[in-house]
Amino acid sequence: MTTHTQLETMEDLAPRLKVGTLVLSQGERTVIGRIDHAIESNLPASVASALNGKITCRQVSQRAGITLDEMLRLVSQLDTANLLDTTSTKITVERFHSSHPSRSSHNNDDSNDGAYKQLQSRIAPELTFTTWFDNVKDGGVELIANRRNCDVTVIGRSRVATLLYGILLASGVSETNLQPLRGNATINDQDMCGGYLHASDIGLSLKTRAEELSREISLFPLPATHEKKENRSLQHIVVCVGAPDPDQLQKWMSDGTPHLLIEDPECASINIGPLVLPGKTPCWRCICLAREDQNNSWHDIALQRIAAGASEVPVSVAHHVAGLIALEILRFIDIGKSELIGNSVRMSYHTPLDLEHRLHARHPACGCNW
Ligand SMILES: [Zn+2]
Repeated sequence: MTTHTQLETMEDLAPRLKVGTLVLSQGERTVIGRIDHAIESNLPASVASALNGKITCRQVSQRAGITLDEMLRLVSQLDTANLLDTTSTKITVERFHSSHPSRSSHNNDDSNDGAYKQLQSRIAPELTFTTWFDNVKDGGVELIANRRNCDVTVIGRSRVATLLYGILLASGVSETNLQPLRGNATINDQDMCGGYLHASDIGLSLKTRAEELSREISLFPLPATHEKKENRSLQHIVVCVGAPDPDQLQKWMSDGTPHLLIEDPECASINIGPLVLPGKTPCWRCICLAREDQNNSWHDIALQRIAAGASEVPVSVAHHVAGLIALEILRFIDIGKSELIGNSVRMSYHTPLDLEHRLHARHPACGCNW
């Protein structure tokens, strides 16, 4: 709740309506908000529309001919309804060595810098995701900037894994890396799926080519040689697309590394999740033990699936699943929440909007419970 003290300090702030907020004049009243959630005010629509982050509350009230108290009441209402940004965060962009004179020396004014303008333009759509989280007051800028403090390893040799790598990089998760299971995996015909790989890439090492392209794909600038920054305290997350390696699973559990598991497709469906938080939520072994309890053929089913090998998903499924996973991972990075924590969804290729949700429980026979 906004206190009187906060209101007093608001006088000389220049708040702005969150991106996309509607301001409608309806007779004597003004409706301000989103289609699903709005507030009403008796002040003219022009007052709310003037909240653009460039002029202060005091100036808006003077120009509109209303009292400062009326102005601050509206601002308080908007703030409580999470419709207002009241602070600003400036993204600092790391500069890498360049022989170009305008790039090699950097001053604090980025306004005429082409790369900075391009970054601002590319960030704008990302902000429409982060600004609408509760209690975000800076337009979502800090959350996007903080995505650089997260290190995501995407494990898998599939369309979903390759697309996910590109989506996360382009969404600001600069420390994303792709591990295609076999380090020498090469790009093949099936990788042509409307993503960032092209026919001219066929035959090249997938890992090497993906790393080369990362500088083009990444939202934030990357150095020419993108080496893992061991000295930074990055939050590490793993996304494993396909059957996880038991040794790696054990390592993630003992390291406390959050890991999201996406199973190999089964006929025309695919299981997504859970996102395992070691020691806090059911692990992969819990799920396997529960499956064996429920179906005594499960062990045979699992063996047959391993023997048959994984099939590749259709292009449309690959994009849908990669996008869905990316949204969940980004939300987890941004605010620590995800619908896939302790849950999984089964998606049929034929009814992708009708997800079958499964809530998992810790298995009493699993060691992670102790
Ligand atoms: Zn367990």
